[in-house]
Amino acid sequence: MRLGTMHHAGKRDSTVRHRPKGGVRPRLAMALVALGLIALAAVWGRQRVRAPTELAYAVELEGAARGQVDVTLQARGPLPRRLRLEQPGGLFHDPRGGATVTPLAAWNLSGDGRRGAPLVLRPEGRAWTLIDAGPHGAVVQYRLTLPHGGAADADIRAHLSRCSGTGARVAGFHVFLLPEALPVGAISVRFVGAPGGGAARLAVPWPGAGSPDGIVYAPRDVRDLTDALVAWDDLRLHEQDIGGCTVRLGVRGTWAFADRELARLLLRLGEAEIAFFGSPPHRSMLILVDSNPLRGGTGFEYYGLHVGHSVLLLLDPALGWNDLADKVASVAAHEMFHGWLGEEICPQSSDLNWFIEGATSWYTARLLVDSGVWTARRAEEVVMGRIAQHYAHSPLRGRVSIAEAARGMLRDGETTRFAYAGGTLAAERLDAWLAERSGRTHPLDAVLRDLFARRGEGPLTRERLERALRRAQGADAHAWLDRHVYGIEPLPCPAAMF
Ligand SMILES: [Zn+2]
Repeated sequence: MRLGTMHHAGKRDSTVRHRPKGGVRPRLAMALVALGLIALAAVWGRQRVRAPTELAYAVELEGAARGQVDVTLQARGPLPRRLRLEQPGGLFHDPRGGATVTPLAAWNLSGDGRRGAPLVLRPEGRAWTLIDAGPHGAVVQYRLTLPHGGAADADIRAHLSRCSGTGARVAGFHVFLLPEALPVGAISVRFVGAPGGGAARLAVPWPGAGSPDGIVYAPRDVRDLTDALVAWDDLRLHEQDIGGCTVRLGVRGTWAFADRELARLLLRLGEAEIAFFGSPPHRSMLILVDSNPLRGGTGFEYYGLHVGHSVLLLLDPALGWNDLADKVASVAAHEMFHGWLGEEICPQSSDLNWFIEGATSWYTARLLVDSGVWTARRAEEVVMGRIAQHYAHSPLRGRVSIAEAARGMLRDGETTRFAYAGGTLAAERLDAWLAERSGRTHPLDAVLRDLFARRGEGPLTRERLERALRRAQGADAHAWLDRHVYGIEPLPCPAAMF
């Protein structure tokens, strides 16, 4: 069993604040409304003409192996008088996670792009407020301090961003401070100060282009910047094109299988998934492979973590080729599938976790069989075995709904396993329920493709899912979902699934 996707709810570049309502008398209220409208028009007018701010990050790698990553952020463009900069830690923000930010200094930016007067940087909760930034922008220097990868901690989140003695791995939402409530334009990231020609050991998920200052990487937007993993370490890097998607593979450590065997397996899995959806979810993807720091005890045997276009596979160093084709294939296929379901088909809230995780697990197993990596018998053994153990025999069955367990995915091992097993069964049973009504084989496939094709219409909600089910199969699944997924009526286990 593994821990699947840890979705980071990417902090977008705008926030809305509500003021508490006061008891204002009517006449005074009219005057205040008029004043308010004038003020609003002024603010709006200013915001309409304000050009988007360009963000240029320079990440200093010299101290990375010791856990010290210094970052210089140039925010170019007119800035508000008070600008909050924050670490968009999201779900991953855990004080025990150990990746902490300390501001160092800030300056105004002059019209010709030079550093001007020093600025005050005031701490405010998890953010820092920049006071009196100028019309051309500001430069902010801060330090990210990383925990050492050797630290034993039962929480995998503490191992996402870490130094290793030879290098470091950082998650975008830990390292890139973001200006709050500001339209963001172009984003660029440079890595500097890497001793020994660091670029050869640098793994990033974004496209890069050469410049006089070295390679400049260009994340697509704020979410692409923060939902990413970057590694600079003892990595062996490989790159291959899978169906129009550039897949970069960074392997660290010694394994019983060759890197090329792993690359070949990923190719096979990627091709099967791209064939299922018709096109890749992104133009590029990064897959990092490292040893699992949490073997045994309360941890999981294998971890697959997925953020944006980046996948991290944390595996037991003792595993051999058979484990690779069996267990690792399943984790890798699962995390790659999230590129479509979870990232492109993006849920609005944790209310849909059961579907994202359940359908991903169910489809991963089916595609492993279709691509010949697993036999149908092996898929039955693994998937039905998990469902029997963690759903059918779980003390949570009939007491906690699958949707509720999946909302609190990381609460504890029992809940996590129940949520995955229950979600997988729910996806399979929903497919079977639809098949009974439509007479078609695997009608849920068309629903998934439909959701992918319409991903631009907005994030996935229960209502959108129900609409897609109605559209594709003419079936109203509301009551069925209410009973079995959002309610506690147990789902029966089928005799065979594959
Ligand atoms: Zn997952």
